[in-house]
Amino acid sequence: MARATYVCSACATAVPADRPRWRCDCGSHLNLTPGKGLVRGEIDSRDASLWRYRAALGLEGPPRVSLGEGWTPLVARDWDGASIRFKLESQMPTGSFKDRGTAVMLNHLLELDVGPIHEDSSGNAGASIATYAAAAGLPCRIFVPAGAPRGKIVQIAATGAAVEAIAGTRQDVTEAALAAAETSFYASHNWQPFFIEGTKTLAYELWEQLEFTVPDNILVPTGYGSNILGLDRGCSELLRRGEITRMPRLFAVQAANCAAFGAAWSADADGYVPFTATPTIADGIATVKPVRVHEVLAALRRSRGGVVAVPEEEIGPALKRLGRLGLYVEPTAATAGAALSRLLADGTIGPSETTVVVLTGHGLKAAEKIGELLGN
Ligand SMILES: [Zn+2]
Repeated sequence: MARATYVCSACATAVPADRPRWRCDCGSHLNLTPGKGLVRGEIDSRDASLWRYRAALGLEGPPRVSLGEGWTPLVARDWDGASIRFKLESQMPTGSFKDRGTAVMLNHLLELDVGPIHEDSSGNAGASIATYAAAAGLPCRIFVPAGAPRGKIVQIAATGAAVEAIAGTRQDVTEAALAAAETSFYASHNWQPFFIEGTKTLAYELWEQLEFTVPDNILVPTGYGSNILGLDRGCSELLRRGEITRMPRLFAVQAANCAAFGAAWSADADGYVPFTATPTIADGIATVKPVRVHEVLAALRRSRGGVVAVPEEEIGPALKRLGRLGLYVEPTAATAGAALSRLLADGTIGPSETTVVVLTGHGLKAAEKIGELLGN
C-alpha cells in the first residue's frame, strides 16, 4: 500500500509517514490525510480480529505483532424500554479499547524500525502500549500518575516495562513524558495519529456487525476523543466509498467533574475553553487538556451529536446497573450508561432508534474502586 501522509494541524505541512514521529517540527499535532476506505468485498472474513479490515489501514505490509485485538462482541440489552447494543471493547487483549489504536500504531512504528519507546497514561493506554511493546520485544517505559489505580500499574509492570510514577496532575505526567522524548521515541497514543487509524476499525466493525449499516447513535466515554475521531474517520471512509449513506450521531460522554469538551460545547466554541477540573472516579477520561479539541468538536457537530457531562453521583448507579445486565465495566465506561439514561429521558434518543454504547474498559481493571462504589 502507498505510504501514508501526515498533515500538520497548524502549519498544514504535509510529510510522508516514513520515519517515527509524533508531532510536526512546528510543535503541533499531525493528522493523517483521509484514508481510501474499503468496500465489503475487501473484508478478510477469515480473520477474527481488526486485521480483517487490513485493506483500509495505512500500513505497508501485514501486521508484525498482533494479540488478536478487535472483533469484540456487540450484545443487545434492554435499558429504559429501549433495546441497546453494547459494544464490549472491554474484551480486548488488555481489557480496554486502546488495543485497537495501539496495535495499528505500533505496527506502523515497527515498519519504520522504531527503537525504545515510552508513553504517558492514566492506566489503560499504558497497559496496552506496554503489552504490545513486550510482544514486539521493544524496550518500553510508561509514565503514570502516582495515584493511578493499582490494578492498572500492576498490569503495566507485569509486561516488564519500566513504570515511572509521577506525582502531581495528569498534565505533570505528560510533561515528564515530553522531557523523555530526547532519549526514546514518544509513542503517545494521544499525539501519534496512527492510533486513530486503529480506532477507526471500531466504525468498520459496528458497520459489519449491524449487517452493513451504521447505527443512529453511538455513545462513547471520551477523554482525548480517539474513539470519536476513529468513528468519524471510519464512517467517513465508508460514506466516501458508498457503503453507507449517512453518518451516525456521535455522543462524547464525559465526567462533569472534568469535562474539557463539555466546557467547549456549552460555550459553542470550536477550540479549547479553560475550565475547572475536580477529581472524578472516571479516571480514564479525566483529561484536562486534550490534543485534538478542534477536530473532536468538529466531528461531533458534523454528526449532529453532542457532549453529555455526567454528574459524579450518577456513575456508581450506572455501573451497578450494567453489572446486573452482565456487563462488568470500570467506572470510566459506566459513564456511558449514565449518559444513555439522560439521552433517553430527554428524548434526544428515541427508543426505536439503533443505539450503540461503547463500553471501553473492563471492571477487572478497577476492582478496588468498584468495591467502594458498591459498598463492598
Ligand atoms: Zn506544523
